[in-house]
Amino acid sequence: MIELLVDGDCAGTCTEEPVVIDVVGFQWCPEHEHKGRVINWLAAHNWPELRIGYPVVEGDKWCAVNQVLFASEDWIWTVWAYIEYLESEWNSQRAGRENRELAGIGSEVR
Ligand SMILES: [Zn+2]
Repeated sequence: MIELLVDGDCAGTCTEEPVVIDVVGFQWCPEHEHKGRVINWLAAHNWPELRIGYPVVEGDKWCAVNQVLFASEDWIWTVWAYIEYLESEWNSQRAGRENRELAGIGSEVR
């Protein structure tokens, strides 16, 4: 795997100019930048395990990075859609909490 990773060549997958450099240091071109964005999102959330019924991303930094590096386009877009779903769920949960607080109902206790 190491020999695939040449500086500036989109983590070994193409030769386009990079537009995203992920936290691991891989550079991603416009066509593959979503892979860098997935890596950055996973890093920002401390490398969580993602499950869509079954585990799709392992909760381990280098396992996750390898999964993204060698991912098919279908896989990466499925994961990205799931990340967007999670973000929207969290946003609506936050908004719901704020609305209840504004209405004086109090915040949720779990
Ligand atoms: Zn590329």
